[in-house]
Amino acid sequence: MQITAAVAREHGQPLSIETLELDDLRANEVRVRMVSVGVCHTDAIVRDGVYPTPLPAVLGHEGAGVVEEVGSAVRSVAVGDHVVLGAAYCGYCRRCRSGEMAYCENLFAEDFGGRRRDGSTSLSRDGEVVSSHFFGQSAFATYANVVEESVIKVDRDVPLEHLGPLGCGLNTGAGTVLNELRPPAGSSIIVFGTGAVGSAAIMAAGVAGCTTIIAVDIVDSRLELARELGATHTINSRSEDVAEQITAITDGRGVDFAVDTTARSEQLRTAAEALGVRGTLALVGAAKPGTEVSFEIGSSLVKGWTFKTVVQGSSVPQVFIPHLIDLWREGKFPFEKLVGEYDLEHINDGFEDSRNGSVVKPVVVFK
Ligand code: NAD
Ligand code: ZN
Repeated sequence: MQITAAVAREHGQPLSIETLELDDLRANEVRVRMVSVGVCHTDAIVRDGVYPTPLPAVLGHEGAGVVEEVGSAVRSVAVGDHVVLGAAYCGYCRRCRSGEMAYCENLFAEDFGGRRRDGSTSLSRDGEVVSSHFFGQSAFATYANVVEESVIKVDRDVPLEHLGPLGCGLNTGAGTVLNELRPPAGSSIIVFGTGAVGSAAIMAAGVAGCTTIIAVDIVDSRLELARELGATHTINSRSEDVAEQITAITDGRGVDFAVDTTARSEQLRTAAEALGVRGTLALVGAAKPGTEVSFEIGSSLVKGWTFKTVVQGSSVPQVFIPHLIDLWREGKFPFEKLVGEYDLEHINDGFEDSRNGSVVKPVVVFK
């Protein structure tokens, strides 16, 4: 069938809106009519060649839509179901079998390879091959053939227009706090970068009962929003000394938990130094391969601190995303405050507004 999609053709260039051919559904796939899709920083870095998905490609990995058709082997959803689309995973490696699909041993091929497991793509234009199955979905398109692992069934009473961003960025930020760090009630946390991922981490910290929630960014409007979402303190790292502020806020004890979504070496070092005794720092932000960070290990040894990297909020998406929707229903995860809406023709404006800091989570809504 013919579909309309936003195609990444050249590194660093805007996506182009094109008519493509979508091939027949495979046994393990679900045909989804897209209703909305979030734009994530990860789409931008793949468009720009930081990760090697072959171009031309249809990106987009935060889809939400309606199931139009299911392959013969699909068991988890049926025609008419409402679904959110998350990252793909193989389902058979040791990590997947242990319920840790965020750490799938085949993650790179499943999410960034641009091909099905049999080497084919579902997308083409006049015989030209176009990479598909980005995160199992390639959701910057009116329709997609999505692998079953990426499909998360959700209740029908929640508007699909809003749900796109749950699949990656919000799942990542909230899951890092609720699934991986699990801060005890009354503990303190600092979040570097208050984009979509950081904002979700801040809301989740509130859900967990953290009583000191410090947000760090370089954009004042984002810090104001962070306060609305539950941050108890904000620091603009351009105009204030972060270390000094943390010392003042925590009475010199340092924080229990830190989440970095900036992937900037100097911020990570600041985050490590901000930790108190037995503190944990989680790196979530994605950096160019080869990026390094240095930590002080002489006197920090006695802190007994932990550094860990966290993928996709360590979540089982089919379990955790419905939980996030329940939290949203209760007003504890008001992610609609992050969203700016675009139609597919203006998707590049969404990328630009995310880059310049004016919109936290651009969402394309298909009319
Ligand atoms: P974003 O661009 O919306 O947010 C990043 C924020 O960091 C922005 O608000 C920006 O102003 C702020 N920032 C930049 N430099 C800073 C500095 N020096 N000090 C303080 N703040 C600074 O991006 P996002 O969508 O929230 O994603 C955050 C990161 O997480 C990206 O790198 C993305 O690729 C990555 N990511 C990782 C996973 C994962 O599974 N680990 C999943 C999704 C996204
Ligand atoms: Zn796996």
